[in-house]
Formats: sequence, C-alpha cells, structure tokens
Amino acid sequence: MAEFSGLEHIVRENEPLAPYGWLRTGGVARYFAEPTTEDELVSLIVLCKAQGISVKLLGGGSNILVASDIVDAMVIHLSSAAFTEIHVDGNCVVAKGGAKLVQLLSTAAREGLSGLESLAGIPGTVAGALKTNAGTHNDDIGQWTRAVKVLTRDGEVAVREGDQLRFAYRESSLNELVILEGVFELKAMDSVEVTKRTQTQWILCKGQQPRGAAGAICMFRDHGGVTAKSLIESAGLKGAAMGAASLNDACPNYLELNEGGSVENAVALLNHVQAEVEAQSGVALVRQVEIW
Ligand SMILES: Cc1cc2nc3c(=O)[nH]c(=O)nc-3n(C[C@H](O)[C@H](O)[C@H](O)COP(=O)(O)OP(=O)(O)OC[C@H]3O[C@@H](n4cnc5c(N)ncnc54)[C@H](O)[C@@H]3O)c2cc1C
Repeated sequence: MAEFSGLEHIVRENEPLAPYGWLRTGGVARYFAEPTTEDELVSLIVLCKAQGISVKLLGGGSNILVASDIVDAMVIHLSSAAFTEIHVDGNCVVAKGGAKLVQLLSTAAREGLSGLESLAGIPGTVAGALKTNAGTHNDDIGQWTRAVKVLTRDGEVAVREGDQLRFAYRESSLNELVILEGVFELKAMDSVEVTKRTQTQWILCKGQQPRGAAGAICMFRDHGGVTAKSLIESAGLKGAAMGAASLNDACPNYLELNEGGSVENAVALLNHVQAEVEAQSGVALVRQVEIW
C-alpha cells in the first residue's frame, strides 16, 4: 500500500463505488478518503502527488458512471461537516463544495434570496453543479456565482472570481483539483415567494425526469438548441435496451439499469445510442455523464 502516514484513519483501500453512484453499480476505488478537515485534505493531496497517485473528486455521483473494475486513483469524497457547511452573508449564500444542492436552495429560500430556484430537482452537490455548470434551458448555476474557492494541484488554496470564472453550457473553467466553496450572489425577495418558485420548479423538473430517478443517469448534452431526447426519439431509439440496461420510456435521454444489470450493459447501450443517432442524423452527441 502507498504511504499515508498520519491519515490512515481517513483512507480506505478497494472501496466499492457502487453505493455512491446513481446506477448503483461499478468497480472499486484503489484508494478512497473522506477527509474531516481542510488540513487533512491538503496533506492527502500532497502525499498523493509525492507518490504519483492520481486524484479524483466524487460529489453526489449523479454525473459519473464507474465503468472500470478498479479506479486506479485516490477518490476523495467531501462528506464531512467541514465540507458541507452553508452560511449567509448579506445577499450572498456561501456553500461548501460537498453540500447538497438541495440544501443550498432551501437555505436561499428560507433566507428570502432568489436566483437559484430553477436548479430545483437537479441532484448532486454544490461542487458537482459548479464543475458541470448544472442548470436548465434558461438558467444555470454559473449565472449566480460570484466567487469559487479552490484547491490547486499543488495543494494551494485560491479564489477564482471575475474573468477567472467562465461558465458555458454544462461547462466551467474550474479545472483545479478541488472545488472547496462557492459564493452565490442572489436577489432579496419575500421568502414565501422564493419557496413557492422553488417548489414549482421542483415539480416541473421531477416531471421531466424518470420516476424513481435514483436508478437512472442522464446520458447526453443537448446539441445546438435541439434536445438529446428528441434526437434519440427521431433515431427510433425509444425503448431501446441492451441486457438489463434500457432507455426510460418517457425520458429516453435517461438510461436505467434494471435488476441484474451490469455496467457493461449500460456502457454498451450508451455507445449504441451515440452511434445510431450519428448514423441517422449526423449529430455526434456529446456525453454528459463522465465515465470512470
Ligand atoms: C436524474 C438526474 C437528473 C439530472 N438533471 C440534470 C439537469 O436538469 N441539469 C443538469 O445540469 N444536470 C442534471 N443531471 C446531471 C447531474 O445531476 C449534475 O451534473 C450535477 O450537478 C452533478 O453533481 P454531483 O455532485 O452528483 O457530481 P458528480 O457526478 O459526483 O461529479 C461531477 C463532476 O464534478 C467533479 N467534482 C465533484 N465534486 C468536486 C469537487 N469538490 N471538486 C472538484 N470537482 C468535483 C467530479 O470529479 C466530476 O468531474 C442529472 C442527473 C440525474 C441522475
């Protein structure tokens, strides 16, 4: 085993990743850690760098499909209190990267701060949402982000703001190793009104997701104003399946894994859909979900 002197209490070997992913399948992480303080996180990163161990960050796992038997890396999960705290400072909500997006939204609603309501129903963490610039057709988290605190690959803490922060459709300029915290500048509004808007959006969003969405992943990004869903439907792929992996009937851009399904079934179906859509429409769909 690699040397994690002083951090043995937070590092585990061969940790199964299935419980952390939305398809509840996949391999193990060679190393896995849940640091409890920022100092532990920095020490861990420095030790990984010194030993040539690559580092991957896992948020809520809603945009990751673990396809490898062994993810040969240190997988870091920011689940402890030090990485999930949220507080309010004037019109800004300051949320740690490991906090759940739903908690950020409920804090904003409770405090009468409007802006993030359209993100209601999107699963995952604040860091995952910042990294992927999570959002809907009209709005995304980047529009409300004033600053982001990150940890660089050398273990240095830095703040990205102004023109160091760029957001595009499902992309951000945040390529540093760890997203530690986001600062969201919102608009003051009656808290009852913000809560109502959040609830309405939540209902709309859930109506567009597969029922029991905890067993599904969103496969592809929309393409130049055309939804991935309509491209998949036009290619005649509604109801397509491979083994126990199938496309959701109502939302064919979501892949579901039924009982007994394997990650191989999921990857095969994803590749099949991508190839068929390209063959039928000439559009090379870009994957939204990240494959490890
Ligand atoms: C049912 C369902 C519905 C969805 N609907 C939407 C939607 O409407 N709109 C939308 O935009 N997306 C949607 N998604 C995709 C997904 O929920 C978002 O991309 C979400 O923001 C990912 O957050 P996460 O915490 O789960 O990130 P993860 O899946 O864990 O990770 C995503 C990326 O972020 C990186 N990451 C995570 N934490 C950190 C950190 N602390 N520091 C640095 N990098 C980090 C990971 O390494 C990875 O590259 C949906 C997914 C599902 C399963």
